[in-house]
Amino acid sequence: MNKRITILGSTGSIGKSTLNLLGVHPDKFEVFALTAKSKIDVLSTQCQQFNPNFAVVESEYHANQLQQKLAGAKLRTKILHGAAALQEVASAAEVDYVMASIVGAAGLLPTLAAARAGKRILLANKEALVMSGALFMKTIAEFGAELLPVDSEHNALFQCMPPGYKTGDTAANVDKIVLTASGGPFRSLPLEKFGSITPEQAIAHPNWSMGAKISVDSATMMNKGCEVIEAFWLFNLKMAQIDVIIHPQSIIHSMVCYKDGSMLAQLGSPDMQIPIAATLAWPDRINAPVKKLDLVDIGKLTFESVDATRFPALGLAYAAIQAGGTASTVLNAANEVAVEAFLARRLTFSAIVPLVNEVLERTNIEPASSYDVILEADRRARELANENMSAMTD
Ligand code: NAD
Ligand code: MG
Repeated sequence: MNKRITILGSTGSIGKSTLNLLGVHPDKFEVFALTAKSKIDVLSTQCQQFNPNFAVVESEYHANQLQQKLAGAKLRTKILHGAAALQEVASAAEVDYVMASIVGAAGLLPTLAAARAGKRILLANKEALVMSGALFMKTIAEFGAELLPVDSEHNALFQCMPPGYKTGDTAANVDKIVLTASGGPFRSLPLEKFGSITPEQAIAHPNWSMGAKISVDSATMMNKGCEVIEAFWLFNLKMAQIDVIIHPQSIIHSMVCYKDGSMLAQLGSPDMQIPIAATLAWPDRINAPVKKLDLVDIGKLTFESVDATRFPALGLAYAAIQAGGTASTVLNAANEVAVEAFLARRLTFSAIVPLVNEVLERTNIEPASSYDVILEADRRARELANENMSAMTD
């Protein structure tokens, strides 16, 4: 029987890569629901190709637009809108797998609905774990859901864990893990030029093609900071067991170091279809239409340590884990506001991380005792970030 999939955020970079794979394997997978915020043209084309049971958009206005575009297409697709509909298609009884690929905090509640319904969750939306790692992992365990990491580093680590390993467990005999980072587009840009970096420059990642927010996060290395937090929760390790190393070629996607001195790595082209295929088929394997590695052609793999002055975001992420409670919720929310402002040219590149730091310093961190506490901390951090920004630009 085909596995039925809901793709949350199907019009984004991860969503499109997922559909590309599903298109290659119509004998294995079927699309139950596609969701998007507002890219109706893309969603309409996807609906015509995959004929999902449901398509979900943000507003009634967008729903009407999609309805018009699909009029006469003779699809089975029902069009819904709003937050509750996202949760419904993520938790419906017919669904086997949920690809969680909405960007940012907006992905938390629908992903949580999938967790509470005990689904296999292919997790790209790292912000869900950064915001609410402890509670989220608890929910996964409580409802018997299966959490498979899509983020390339975490997928690499997951593949290098001992046989039978489940996310949330602490793997036996693992000494530490090493997350690789490309260093982004500004790994060697003179620091005095950071102030004048434009959104176009920040989005142009040297190795990966990704959505705007994660591309900016890669340029500040806040992405790697979030990934350290993501790894902390997924693999249930101590902070001191998580290292980050710069590997500019993005060929080794991360490494697990065992206590006998063995270091296991997963390698592949920088193409997200590889980790997505691994989660879709896990523990089996399926073909993926990707460029296979030619190591002789690549020739050299190099490594450097991270320059903490150039990339203060990483230290901030470690400090947020150390602080515990809602600290990483606040870090995530302030960063989302800062990145959005940078993309809208309301904030300079070099002000992004200081703004996040400022919001963290001005916030009383609380125990992350419930999702309500998390959502309130998220709301308050956004408010503070906006207040701080207006103070900076006044
Ligand atoms: P993207 O910006 O390309 O796509 C985001 C998707 O989310 C779109 O379909 C959009 O319609 C939807 N969306 C955005 N805001 C929404 C809202 N408020 N409500 C409902 N839907 C909304 O992003 P992406 O690059 O595909 O990244 C998606 C997630 O995957 C992020 O959490 C990112 O960190 C993670 N991720 C991405 C990559 C990558 O290569 N792109 C790699 C690793 C992890
Ligand atoms: Mg990653």
